[in-house]
Amino acid sequence: MTRRSRLAAAVDTFRPSLTLELKRLAAERAARGLPVWDFGLGETKGDLAPFIRDAGSRAFLNGATQYGDPAGLADLRKAVLRWLDLGRDYTADDVVITTGAKQGLFSIFLALCDAGDTVLFDSAPWVSYEPMAIAAHVTPVVVQPAAGAANHLKIDADDLRRELRAYPAARLFLINSPVNPTGQVYSAGELEALLQVCVEHRVYFVLDRLYWRLVFDGDVFPEPRVDAETKPWLIQVDGLSKNFRRTGGIRIGWTVAPGDVARAMVNLQSHYNSGPAIPTQHAALAGISATYDVELRDDLERKRNLLHEATCRIPRLTVWPTPGAFYSFWDVRSCFGTTTPDGGAIRSSVDLATYLLESSGVVTAPGSAFRQEGYLRISFATPDDHILNGCRAVGEALATLR
Ligand code: PLP
Repeated sequence: MTRRSRLAAAVDTFRPSLTLELKRLAAERAARGLPVWDFGLGETKGDLAPFIRDAGSRAFLNGATQYGDPAGLADLRKAVLRWLDLGRDYTADDVVITTGAKQGLFSIFLALCDAGDTVLFDSAPWVSYEPMAIAAHVTPVVVQPAAGAANHLKIDADDLRRELRAYPAARLFLINSPVNPTGQVYSAGELEALLQVCVEHRVYFVLDRLYWRLVFDGDVFPEPRVDAETKPWLIQVDGLSKNFRRTGGIRIGWTVAPGDVARAMVNLQSHYNSGPAIPTQHAALAGISATYDVELRDDLERKRNLLHEATCRIPRLTVWPTPGAFYSFWDVRSCFGTTTPDGGAIRSSVDLATYLLESSGVVTAPGSAFRQEGYLRISFATPDDHILNGCRAVGEALATLR
């Protein structure tokens, strides 16, 4: 008799989130007194703004700790519409507050897809998209740019159409911009062309815009078109985690969706978490109600420039321009086929990331975690001395490859 696995088959294949694993490895090295130059985790550093901290503390002091509306605080849902400037097109009933953007994304899969459905992702999907899809019993398909495309880290309308011909019953297309891991930003025209394809095919267009305030060089985030044609198919996911300092652990996100989709998501979460924690919703409300301080964006732009300056002369690295988010994407394919001083072969981005960590304490994220073998993701939301010393260490480590 064959024994059934003790775990659900889908979940049994999961490994811990790579980015959280990197945080653990870096902490382990630091605890042993070894140097760590941390480009691993996608998390803003610095202090939590006092007005966010105080709003959360006040909520606890005032006893705002009972069950709440599973859709989220009404005031927070209204504030989300102001934050995203969507008050003309949506009401608070179209907004769902979630436990981080992550839960919003997972609820979208659960609310829209039946088991066996196909969902489409853009070419460098963020690490958790695929596990979420698999946990929701849907099949993820990554849309790739055509061979020889000018920017092979972005896809266009023809790429999406091609994939929709192959998977005509695809349920949704999920795109992230500014992109984690590549730091690319889809322009207004590129976004509109992809949205148009989804509308034509009656496929949901899910836009994960979690880094939307972090667009550099004087540009602003290109908003998707919201009107009678697009609204039934457009879903926007955002949250508190990235556009402020030290807010990832507050665990508040939000989704703005057509009313029927928002209702389904609320019904769902009324059963599985009763909505996010109330005190942290108050913290988020304070965060997005204040005039947005562009200090974080400007500081990250400065760090991006520092990083590019420090890396541009390192042999074997090709560094992509980074118009948004806080990730630099390094093309490291010319390291493949080399050997480390200890005789280890570098055949993949995991081999190289492991070598950099073990030889020099440099923490990076291998591109294969994002379906982009041949690259390393570098988070520059890290102190300046990590950027300068870390890049020096990378230069030295790569110079010893033979
Ligand atoms: N989407 C993207 C592109 C992310 O980078 C992350 C977090 O790293 C998330 C979603 C999840 O965000 P949250 O921490 O708000 O759940």
